[in-house]
Amino acid sequence: MTLRLYNTLSRRKEAFEPIDPANVRMYVCGPTVYDVAHIGNARPVIVFDVLFRLLRHFYGPDHVTYARNITDVDDKIIARAAEEGVAIDALTVRTTKQFHEDVEALGCLAPTREPRATEHIGDMIAMIERLIAIGNAYEADGHVLFHVPSMPDYGKLARRSLEDMQAGARVEVAPYKRDPMDFVLWKPAREGEPGWDSPWGHGRPGWHIECSAMSAALLGEVFDIHGGGIDLVFPHHENEVAQSRCAHGTEVMARYWLHNGFLQVEGEKMSKSLGNFVTVPDLLAAWPGEVIRLTMLMTQYRQPLNWTQDAMREAWRALDHWQDLTRDVEPGGLPASVLAALEDDLNTPKAIAALHELRSAAAHGSSEAAAGLKAGAQLMGLLQVDPQAWRAWRPAELAVDEAQIEEKIVARAEARKSKDFAEADRIRDELAEMGIALKDGPEGTSWEIAR
Ligand code: AMP
Ligand code: ZN
Repeated sequence: MTLRLYNTLSRRKEAFEPIDPANVRMYVCGPTVYDVAHIGNARPVIVFDVLFRLLRHFYGPDHVTYARNITDVDDKIIARAAEEGVAIDALTVRTTKQFHEDVEALGCLAPTREPRATEHIGDMIAMIERLIAIGNAYEADGHVLFHVPSMPDYGKLARRSLEDMQAGARVEVAPYKRDPMDFVLWKPAREGEPGWDSPWGHGRPGWHIECSAMSAALLGEVFDIHGGGIDLVFPHHENEVAQSRCAHGTEVMARYWLHNGFLQVEGEKMSKSLGNFVTVPDLLAAWPGEVIRLTMLMTQYRQPLNWTQDAMREAWRALDHWQDLTRDVEPGGLPASVLAALEDDLNTPKAIAALHELRSAAAHGSSEAAAGLKAGAQLMGLLQVDPQAWRAWRPAELAVDEAQIEEKIVARAEARKSKDFAEADRIRDELAEMGIALKDGPEGTSWEIAR
């Protein structure tokens, strides 16, 4: 086994060597539960689920600990609850429940641990106290701030120098900050906001300290893999590193930092104002979860991903074909081609190409290929649904008008009879465009939905 992962820390692909193969530890920043997940949020969830499955395959299911947090205290949550006029708890409980349903429908395993920020406030307070005691943080005006210049190699993960950051900073300038880059560890709670008693008064934690405290509580001071979207490298992950390394006096917080690229929709940045905002529950209402999952995996995780309707159709066709060939097949040994692709920094498009090769061998009668296809797809969290459930679903756009098709078949037959072959071909092409394939036989012409 030679798992290689691109490490944002070194900007290189590296061979993965866990600290303790008996307990491989991964932390991924989870959702802030104020709104339903959009398709961009689903990317890290699916990508790191594939890595979780791969690690379980290599090290054994009992030897991998995957922690993905729920951020259930945050400014955005407070603002949304006020907007909707609902209690904060009601909003976070409802949103968390929806998130769980969505990720399960996307074929993701539950993480081993799922800490909620509000369950770890004590750990956060203890960590902040430690940072103050050793001179990396200070209290000012009811706030506690991390003093960035107190850490000489701050900026190492994001590869930004302090000067660059200060020059380009869009950071909040507050009178109580000693340096404009200093960031909040604790802030006072205003009237009506959630808060906890602390040595610095009634208040709540900043977002960055949440992940530092939760990862240390569940995975230890140094662990193997830390993941999230590329947008989190700076400032969120840089600040996590600063807090954790200073508090624990360690060289690194996590040894491998993995970041997924961003997702766009039909070539444009997804935004509510552009009207192309795609939520996971909306997509799941229109497509099976596995189609969404396969569409996501058709692009390697570090690349930008363009989410299109066409890609989902392509994914559906592929799955439909694979389902057909593996319906009554027991999964066999894992195909080396699939494993080799995934081992190479989760090259899922290459793994999918390998599955297509197995499909074609399976279609030519190789039962070994069919068994390999099933095993390889299942390692990626695909072909898990019951074939009957799969068959019961058809894309709405393929819900065909049978009468219209029959009419065109008759028109084509007439064109052929009068030797107007150009017209006959045109009709066949028109049907092909609609996703309908014709089969001419001794009994006449029949049709089927093309795959
Ligand atoms: P948030 O709830 O905004 O903190 O995001 C949760 C996760 O989704 C983070 O890991 C983000 O990096 C990731 N994420 C958000 N938007 C996108 C996007 N458009 N493409 C890929 N990942 C995203
Ligand atoms: Zn985090």
